[in-house]
Amino acid sequence: MRVGIIGAGAAGLAAARHVSSYGFDLDVFEMGAQLGGTWVYTDDVGKDRYGYPVYSAMYKGLRTNLPKEVMGYPDFPIPEQKKSYLTQAEILDFLNLYAENFGLKKYIKCNTMVMDVRPVDNQWKITCVDKPTGQIFVNLYDSVMICNGHYNDPITPSIPGQELFAGTIEHSHNYRDPERFRGQKVLVVGAGPSGLDLTLHISSVADYVVLSHRVAEPIKTQYPANVEIRPDIKRILDFDKVEFIDGTCCGFNAILFCTGYRYSFPFLHDSCEISIDDNHIQPLYKHMIHIDKPTMCFIGIPFNVCTFQMFDLQARYYCKYLNGLMSLPSAEEMRVHTQEDMENRQAKGYTKRQMHMMGPDQQSYYNELAHDANTAPIPPVLVKLRDLSVKRLYDDLVNFREDQYKILDEQNFVKVSN
Ligand code: FAD
Repeated sequence: MRVGIIGAGAAGLAAARHVSSYGFDLDVFEMGAQLGGTWVYTDDVGKDRYGYPVYSAMYKGLRTNLPKEVMGYPDFPIPEQKKSYLTQAEILDFLNLYAENFGLKKYIKCNTMVMDVRPVDNQWKITCVDKPTGQIFVNLYDSVMICNGHYNDPITPSIPGQELFAGTIEHSHNYRDPERFRGQKVLVVGAGPSGLDLTLHISSVADYVVLSHRVAEPIKTQYPANVEIRPDIKRILDFDKVEFIDGTCCGFNAILFCTGYRYSFPFLHDSCEISIDDNHIQPLYKHMIHIDKPTMCFIGIPFNVCTFQMFDLQARYYCKYLNGLMSLPSAEEMRVHTQEDMENRQAKGYTKRQMHMMGPDQQSYYNELAHDANTAPIPPVLVKLRDLSVKRLYDDLVNFREDQYKILDEQNFVKVSN
């Protein structure tokens, strides 16, 4: 069994760890200069020194939005220390520690970008470019695990009248630090975790910041006095003036879209038969396995999850299948199961864009995977702590990272200080 893994972020590392533990042959292709994916910070935006796209959306000063008690891997927790919310550099160190501990570095080919993946005679042909030399090479694998992340293809809405705006318009993917907004009037669009966090970062140097959003719930966080919350944008009126749907207007020098990302697999040839419709990827069994070509799998697709924990569980599940320790249902049965899952989601009011969202469904998703693969589940305490942390983020973004937690057992945690 020879396995090709695309990406050496937290998901690709979990995949490599479990694939190697079964003694399979593997290569991990990583387009960046080092492992770590999202957690690698670079000043570069747009293109890198070799002319290839810059992957990471990481920005200076980022601290995690989940406590370290949740962010470790199941049997490889983040080492004990006196805070729960770590910095970008600390998570990157942790991923390096993980890779060293499980001897993964020897499998990772950095600066190697996968350009094309296609099925050939029951195998997968993976074509890569070595970025520094431009040399192309091709390898065949029995299985391919796609771990390329989903924060690299930004969604940037177009606003009526946008062509009139004279200031800068960009997506948070290109945001690195607040300095260039010093003294400016900035409009941040979108109230996901990035929009909320960047509003706070930018408010430390900007003249004022308006956070515009369309979420039904009011934002409870008390921002500094130079931040204002407004509803959705209606249109741009002239070189600086933006009108909101409540009829109010305001002038800006810059607009920063924090409006999310598309799933994107530009290297998958059409013959892989993967389609994406409004961020719904098909045909995937349990949000990970290609129903018609089960030697292809995707690690890390679901969102609103306990990230590294889930990557590890998905990798354990898939490796049991690869090793013949677990069989999958027939393609028809997988299709029916997937259809039912989608219908349940629709019945709950999820949109197509939310077909891979877990949130309140995550514990049952984890339990199902663990049960089917006869492997350890993710303890409920982690899901509870994740949910509390997300609530705290929305309620009190400015202070929630002062909280510290301690896990007591499978079900319980305590807050040790704030
Ligand atoms: P990534 O970390 O994105 O790694 C994917 C890897 O694939 C990258 O290294 C990339 O270079 C490589 N790759 C992509 N395409 C190719 C190709 N064609 N060829 C070769 N290599 C390729 N999650 C949390 O749990 N807590 C947080 O606090 C948190 N904060 C975040 C903040 C920001 C700004 C962002 C963008 C995300 C955050 N996340 C957070 C989510 C984060 O993405 C996950 O925690 C996790 O790092 C995702 O891991 P991954 O391996 O799936 O993807």
